Amino acid sequence: GLINIAIDGPAGAGKSTVARKVAEQLRYVYIDTGAMYRAVTFGALRAGIEPGDSEQVGSLAASLDIRLLPSENGQKVVLGGEDVTEQIRSREINLRVSRVAAIEQVRTRLVSMQRELAGRKGVVMDGRDIGTHVLPDAELKVFLTASVRIRAERRYRETGQADRVDLEQLEREIEQRDRLDSEREISPLICAEDAVVIDSTSLTIEQVVSQIVELSRT
Ligand code: C5P
Repeated sequence: GLINIAIDGPAGAGKSTVARKVAEQLRYVYIDTGAMYRAVTFGALRAGIEPGDSEQVGSLAASLDIRLLPSENGQKVVLGGEDVTEQIRSREINLRVSRVAAIEQVRTRLVSMQRELAGRKGVVMDGRDIGTHVLPDAELKVFLTASVRIRAERRYRETGQADRVDLEQLEREIEQRDRLDSEREISPLICAEDAVVIDSTSLTIEQVVSQIVELSRT
């Protein structure tokens, strides 16, 4: 029968690429929860609200119309009717999103949306707290990691010219985001006790995908 699959891990470990491909192979629905935190961050930036202003960001999060729609390359993110799929991937957002994601009101709203989206089985959801908090009953939990160097190198290759910083700087920014995500009070980034840990440092995307598809069948 159908199951739910949770994929968590640090920034740049390849979660979204892997999750999307696993969903494709299994004909499951793919849900990228990071995109929702990014959309709130984007909305705050646009409204001129500081990411550290919990009260304002919190009430903004409660009022934003965020939609995740399936698309050819995985998932489209629509904020108040506007397609922001590309815009939420900028460095500006990367540098702010962890502070927004540490706000209780933001998490409460997004987690309830995520649980609703996973109402039926047959979902592959990626994020930081899916196996530990959002879907604790997921039949398969994967914690996907890789060395920070390789994560920075992978990100470096896919970063657009406009946002280019050198590899060392990118590595520092990734480490900083992981630190904020691991040290926050509400559902921090940690490996669930019952998760299968996959270190993708020396694996290809296809190898990781087939491991997870295999696990989903056992
Ligand atoms: O996965 P992605 O890198 O797009 O996530 C962006 C940020 O959103 C993370 O660094 C984290 O701060 C936040 N996030 C979270 N919980 C999730 C998914 C993402 O706190 N389930």
